[in-house]
Amino acid sequence: MSETRAPVIDIALVGEAVGARDSVAAAAVAATRTNIFDFDRASLERFFEEELGEKKFRAQQVMKWIHHRYVTDFGEMTDLGKALRAKLEDRAVVHAPQLIFDKESTDGTHKWLLGMDPKNAIETVYIPDKGRGTLCVSSQVGCALNCQFCSTATQGFNRNLSTAEIIGQVWVAARHLGNVPHQQRKLTNVVMMGMGEPLANFDNVVRAMSIMRDDLGYGLANKRVTLSTAGMVPMIDRLGEVSDVSLAVSLHAPFDALRSELVPLNKKYPIAELMDACVRYALRKRGTSVTFEYTLMKDVNDQPEHARGLVKLLREFDRRVQMKDAAKVNLIPFNPFPGTRFARPTDEAIRAFQKQLNNAGMIAPVRRTRGDDIDAACGQLKGQVMDRTRRSAEHRKRLQESGVSDAA
Ligand code: SF4
Repeated sequence: MSETRAPVIDIALVGEAVGARDSVAAAAVAATRTNIFDFDRASLERFFEEELGEKKFRAQQVMKWIHHRYVTDFGEMTDLGKALRAKLEDRAVVHAPQLIFDKESTDGTHKWLLGMDPKNAIETVYIPDKGRGTLCVSSQVGCALNCQFCSTATQGFNRNLSTAEIIGQVWVAARHLGNVPHQQRKLTNVVMMGMGEPLANFDNVVRAMSIMRDDLGYGLANKRVTLSTAGMVPMIDRLGEVSDVSLAVSLHAPFDALRSELVPLNKKYPIAELMDACVRYALRKRGTSVTFEYTLMKDVNDQPEHARGLVKLLREFDRRVQMKDAAKVNLIPFNPFPGTRFARPTDEAIRAFQKQLNNAGMIAPVRRTRGDDIDAACGQLKGQVMDRTRRSAEHRKRLQESGVSDAA
């Protein structure tokens, strides 16, 4: 769930940098064998028991090698017997996304361009801050939801990322940072706020988030893994049934007419239904808050009546959840990208909007721009999508069939 991303990068860049042949060869190997990155603990244990005829604690050993020690060669997993190592080499592979380049900003922000296949690449960004390090992870190549202020939307939709490609982003970043789960934590938070709508790729995202939270994975607390959605109402309920991660909602407008213009999904699931789903999500567990993201766009949604509408909406949410500050707001100044019709409000207008919320007793931090010098600020990320017209059409058709997409 990104907000405003820059347009597609040059395809030649990926082809050259990856070495298309290497990538094809690696992908071909991964295609013929089972990629261990696709498994969370439960499914890996099943794979060991049912497919390999092994005890399930072996799966746990393998997870530690991969996610704690960043070992991908079964031959180096020395606490596994020789026969098991040979069996694994025959049947499985540990195939991570291919690192095309990495860049570090002077403020410590880090960006990696990762090749998912010879035609598609996505960016993953790490943002260090006082006592924490947050990784922004993508769930799809492109996106079909067509939010009007989002550069990813201009790229169309290509495909969902697999579990391996989602957790692979975390693995590449964690390895690069020298992160040691439970000991030397460089990576303390993951936000599913990169390219794509995570709830439109439900199973793969849920499985990847399970590895993020598993002690044998990255050991992150539930509240430190955040899923951000444009508001796929039925899937928010489904998420509440199977997971306990933090929920963020891209709201961007307090009124239906304006929100439907900015986030077309709102035509399918208007604000009242979305807020009902958020209330249900929060009420599942005492003390749960929901974050509402609000991208501020000049003369579009940054006026006093919008601030008043937002206060009213979120106060009502607090009342229904029966918890003060159950609704948290993140204000995100719009980051312009080429071709957009939207603009960033002046600093003064941003402060005035924030003040209106503060005066109503709401905490509403303004997200700082980070990684400007490496184009890693929110809204400046690039991805690469091929065949996007045809695939977008197919994906929209599928969404339509599942009842989501006249909005999309
Ligand atoms: S849901 Fe898709 S189109 Fe909308 S902001 Fe997120 S990535 Fe962009």
